[in-house]
Amino acid sequence: SSVVDPGLSLRFPATPTTPTPDEARASLLVDPGFGRVFSDHMTVASWTAERGWHDDGVRGLEPMTLHPAAAVLHYAQEIFEGLKAYRQPDGSVALFRPDRNAARFEHSARRLSLPVLPASAFVTAVTELVRLDAAWVPDPPATLYLRPFMVATEAFLGVRAADEARFGVLASPAGPYFSGREVGVTLWIDPELSRAAPGGTGDAKCGGNYAAGLAAQGVAREHACDQVLFLDAVEHRWLEESGTMNVLLVTAAGELVTPPLGTILDGVTRRSVLELAAGHGLRPVERPVSVDELREGARSGAITEVFAAGTAAVISPIVRFREPGGEFTVGDGTPGPRTLALRSELVDVQFGRAADPRGWRVPV
Ligand code: PMP
Repeated sequence: SSVVDPGLSLRFPATPTTPTPDEARASLLVDPGFGRVFSDHMTVASWTAERGWHDDGVRGLEPMTLHPAAAVLHYAQEIFEGLKAYRQPDGSVALFRPDRNAARFEHSARRLSLPVLPASAFVTAVTELVRLDAAWVPDPPATLYLRPFMVATEAFLGVRAADEARFGVLASPAGPYFSGREVGVTLWIDPELSRAAPGGTGDAKCGGNYAAGLAAQGVAREHACDQVLFLDAVEHRWLEESGTMNVLLVTAAGELVTPPLGTILDGVTRRSVLELAAGHGLRPVERPVSVDELREGARSGAITEVFAAGTAAVISPIVRFREPGGEFTVGDGTPGPRTLALRSELVDVQFGRAADPRGWRVPV
């Protein structure tokens, strides 16, 4: 039988296309928003059960053609990642902990019965795209958001793991999430809708999780909230996470508390903030937090700050919660000092303005 390429040989050779003229690109980078503007190229690779990985490269961005019976379109066999490239003070570009995204992509692939892309190939795929489209990396505080993804492309309507898949990476300049004035967000504690159940796909980054979360996000909007806070699916009592961010709490006792892994996403920002906690006089604690503890703690002052953590918005202060029975405020309703200090430190490491003793920055 033929030798199946497990992906270790992928080099993603570049085939440059005609780049967007400098002036046009510069005007797109002025105020790119999030997720609408794309760079000139994309990374691609194909996989079949017979051949393994092949046809890898970095090529001009173009539409993908899929057979209408492609498994991803029917059974949502799909995974993705999100990370950023940061312009450094010397003009170079760095990624932030791409090995963590690679590991999570591998975990997601196994859970969704997709082929595994070796971590080294994942990092090469991202790096080669950023090298070719380095001109698309904006100046701070904007970034180049990177979106690796894998979809099952086999044209077959039977329900089983597809024998064909495609991998890609897109690059999309992203404006600063925080523009000047910082007020903090309000979360809706949904009493009914769940994001993930024990044994489900909550700890995988798969498209289906996000489709299933949209309804709760809609309910949050109806209640004039910025985002939803999901509770556990069994008791509707324990904090899980927000739509695209993990949730952390600062206590008066000097702890940085966050719900344990299991049905939530293993966020790179969450991990990083837990590792930075000690330097801010906080003890990192991963343990279940009930909505009762949150409500009572916010009222009594036992919980002094709450924030959400994720790649896109970095760290987002949460100052208010709304639920069917009413609402409550955290602290004095403005972003707390620990939240802002942790965010500054993290952003300074990402943009190369602070020392990087943990080796989180990876030059491109
Ligand atoms: N939870 C969910 C559901 C997310 O989609 C994300 C964004 N990837 C996060 C948490 C935060 O993860 P990270 O810090 O790795 O971006």
